[in-house]
Parts: sequence; structure tokens; C-alpha cells
Amino acid sequence: MSGLGKGVTAASIGRLLMNRGYKVTAIKIDPYINIDAGLMSPFQHGEVFVLKDGGEVDLDLGNYERFLDVELTRDHNITTGKIYSTVIEKERRGEYLGKTVQIIPHVTEEIKRRIRQSSRTGGCEICLVEVGGTVGDIESMPFLEAMRQLKYEESGNIFFVHVTLAPSTMDGEQKTKPTQHSVKEMRELGLQPDMIVVRCEKPLLGETKHKISHFCDVPVEAVISAHNSEDLYKVPSQLESEGTTKYIMEAMRLFPLDERKDWDSFVKKIDQTQGTVTVAIVGKYTVGSQCADPMEDAYLSIRESLKHAGIEASVKPEIMWVDSEELEAGGAPEILLKDADGILVPGGFGSRGTEGKIKAIQYARERKIPFLGICFGMQLAVIEFARNVCGMEGASSTEFGSTPYPLIAILPEQEKIRQMGATMRLGDYPAHLKEGTLSHKIYGADDVVERHRHRYEVNPQYIKAIEDKGMVFSGTNGDLMEIAEIPGHPFFWGSQFHPEMKSRPGRPSPPFLGFVEAMKARRAQKDGEIAPARSRKVVESIA
Ligand code: GLN
Repeated sequence: MSGLGKGVTAASIGRLLMNRGYKVTAIKIDPYINIDAGLMSPFQHGEVFVLKDGGEVDLDLGNYERFLDVELTRDHNITTGKIYSTVIEKERRGEYLGKTVQIIPHVTEEIKRRIRQSSRTGGCEICLVEVGGTVGDIESMPFLEAMRQLKYEESGNIFFVHVTLAPSTMDGEQKTKPTQHSVKEMRELGLQPDMIVVRCEKPLLGETKHKISHFCDVPVEAVISAHNSEDLYKVPSQLESEGTTKYIMEAMRLFPLDERKDWDSFVKKIDQTQGTVTVAIVGKYTVGSQCADPMEDAYLSIRESLKHAGIEASVKPEIMWVDSEELEAGGAPEILLKDADGILVPGGFGSRGTEGKIKAIQYARERKIPFLGICFGMQLAVIEFARNVCGMEGASSTEFGSTPYPLIAILPEQEKIRQMGATMRLGDYPAHLKEGTLSHKIYGADDVVERHRHRYEVNPQYIKAIEDKGMVFSGTNGDLMEIAEIPGHPFFWGSQFHPEMKSRPGRPSPPFLGFVEAMKARRAQKDGEIAPARSRKVVESIA
């Protein structure tokens, strides 16, 4: 069933095989009809993850990139929409030579063709294929049939892992019936799992494992307990201690090529953080600051990036969700943002809640609270600066209608992209960093490449007026402004791109690390303490 952790299970297995020296990649199959996730609401489906080639994909691909430290492409996310549009195009071109075009074999052939093609990119040796949905869903049927055929055609090179749930009764008894039933459903489709990973609250008891083994025809060593883990990044070691890697490798006749330890050393650091910092995320998808954690999936990569940076800076960032509409309706930033050590304004679309976000940015700028603006957050920071520092009353973005000062607008550059069929600037683009700026310091480089997903840009017409008043565009791509910062502020930084898409465990995104370090310094100052020596260097260089 969805939400069980299939993605994390697959990513963890991939990581374990990678730790043995193999080159691993991943494909996510989403049986929905949408071509991609570009038009899906992050509120319902979680964030739209953006790949280097501009693919707008399911957030699981983000997990794969983080766990496997790879860069995937749009072809690594297969949807029913993509399969059918290829099949229908081929049919229209007459490539089926007059045959009746059917789910079997034409749709299943296209599924297998895509899996084979994407699994080989970049010289990968092992490919994880996650089939989303639940056994028995109408939409996933052609994909499961394709898997059945693939196992036969690639005999010995395919290994099926079935992820199931073992719920516990009130008195703690682990129930195996749901697992028995889903395996029965799978077998009706001709699929026999090679391994069953069982999600459960507490470690699976020996007798439960035996029962599952007995009813489902899977050796007891291949029944794996995937009990709740306190941290997502600890799942690989949990699966390792269950003997998962050993079993899979023996079954597939794989030999260890190497022993990589980098994941373990990263995981060790998770428990070494001391103290916390509070980051206010001001967005319209939040449902009020009183909710504990309402937006788990809508801002997944931002959360993970904060976590990666926190682990590096030995501090735990705690997120406080602030509803921009509450600020807009008159909520005082002094109250709503009182506990924030830093303020983050994430990406977004449309005008709802923007005045609240602008209020939060003004508060961060004036009170010298660390600020990180991502895409929309950067655009609004430029608008706030134009209005309140440059005196351009009514300055705004043409995204919200007409304005006397169109600070943010669609540029001719974008119109060119539009003619190519896309309305957005998507994926990897370079930015050149100005020497002597905060950007140059945090990245420690002259040029960077980051991922984009936006239509609007800073209007070049106003750049001089803005820079004359002290905001610096420290990252540029020709005429396009990629980064805005304010010198003299402890940390005021916003980018047109989404740095959260490239943050990795053990290799945090530089702006996130800079932001977290600045929050830590502010918290230490507030607490009347001195920042620990380990991070003082970075804090000083930022200040
Ligand atoms: N709505 C803005 C644009 O299209 C920002 C998009 C974003 O934050 N990803 O330019």
C-alpha cells in the first residue's frame, strides 16, 4: 500500500549494494495517467522533484538521488501517461504495421523497453525498479505483467522484493494475514516474491517470520523485519543487520567488489548533534503554526537539506511552519516569528499569501535574522527591497497582474523556451559567482550549476537601481540574476534556483549549510554562549 516506505526500502537496498562496490541506479514507476508530476499539487502528492535534465518527477526520485548519490533523468520516472503516449504515437506513425494494438504485448513491450534502456545509463550494474501502487490496482496491472515477463526473459538477473505490512493487535501480536493475502494476489498474477520486507512497528518475531515463510514460500532468511526506524538514513544499516544484502547477493550470484564506509560515517554523525535551532518556513501550504508537522512531503527536499546541513554543523534544525496567510491577514511577525533563529521562504506559485511572505522577509532583513529565499522566496526578497528600500511603491511580479514597477517579469529569454514547448526554465543551469560575496564564500567556487523550476526572472531594467541601494546580485547567468544577497546582514541570501535538489547526506548544499551556521551563531548569541570552535570558522567567514 502507499505510504509504506517502498521507496525508502528500495533506496536502502540500493545503498547497501553500492556499499559493496556496485554502480546502482533506480527507476520509479508511477501507474498514474499524468505524463509527469509537473502539474500535480504538492499539497496532495508531495513536492515536485526536479532533475538535472528538467524532468519534473515524483519525490521518490529525490530519495533515490540522496541515497544513491546519483543524478537521474526524466526517463527514470515511468508513468502510464508516458507509456501510452509513446504507444499511441507509434500507432499513428504506422509502426505497428496494421496490427491491433493491445496492452499485451504492445504496452508491456514499451514498459520493458523503457526499463531496459534506463537501467543501462551511465554504466550502471544494478537497477532498482520500484513499482508504485498496490497489487490489485487496475492501473498497475500492465506494469506487473511486464515484470512477470521480464523475470522470465532476464532469468537469474531479476530479484523481486515485496514490501508488506504486519500490523500489531492491541496486545502486541503481529498479524501476517495482510502479507499472506497480498502474496496470494501476486501469485495470481504469476509473480512469486524472492524476498518479503515486512513493515512493522516492533522487530518481527521469529515465529512471525516462520509463519510468513511457511505461507508465502519464501525462505525464512528472506523474510526481513523493517520495523520503524527513528531516522530514515538508518534504514540501510537496519536492513543490513537483517542479512538483506547477503541474501540478495547470494541469490543473484554477486560478489563484493569493495567496502564503502561513507554512509556509516554519515549516519554516526546524526546522533552527535548538540542543541537545536528553529527555522520558520513561511509558505502557503502550511496549515497554521500550531500544527506539529503538517507539511512532511510538500517540502521534503528542503527538510532533508536542512537536516544534511544540521548534521554537518552539529546542530538539529527544528521546523516551525508559519502560514503566510496568517501574516497577510495582520498577524504580527514579532509574535508569529518570535522564536525563529532563521526564516526560510520556499518556492511557490500564484499570489495567495505573498504579502505575508514579503512581511516575513522585511522582518528578517530589518531585524538581521538569517534569511534563505528559494526561487519565489528570492523574487519576493527583491520585491521587498525595491518597495521598502528603493521606494518603488507597488513593486511586484507580473505573475500577480499589472504593477507600476514590474521587478519580476517574463523575459524574452523565457519566451524562447516557450516556443520550444515548455513554459518554464527547468533543470540545470550555471551561475557565475562574484568574487568577494557571500555566495562566493559559501560555495568556494567561481561557477556553480544548480536546478531551476520557474517562469519569471528579475527584470534587468531595475538591477542598477537595486544594486545602488545595497542589494548585490552575486550570482548571474548572462542577463539572468541567479542570486541576491545583502552585505552587512548576518545572512540574507536568495537564489532563483532550488539548491535543495542537490543536497546530499554528507555533502550538504552550501547555502543551506551557511544558513544553518548563521542560525546557530544567532542562537548562541541569544543564549549568551560562544559558538563551538568546530563551526566558528565558517560563521566568521560568513559574517
Ligand atoms: N512562481 C515563480 C516563477 O514561476 C517561482 C517559482 C518557484 O518558486 N519554483 O518564476
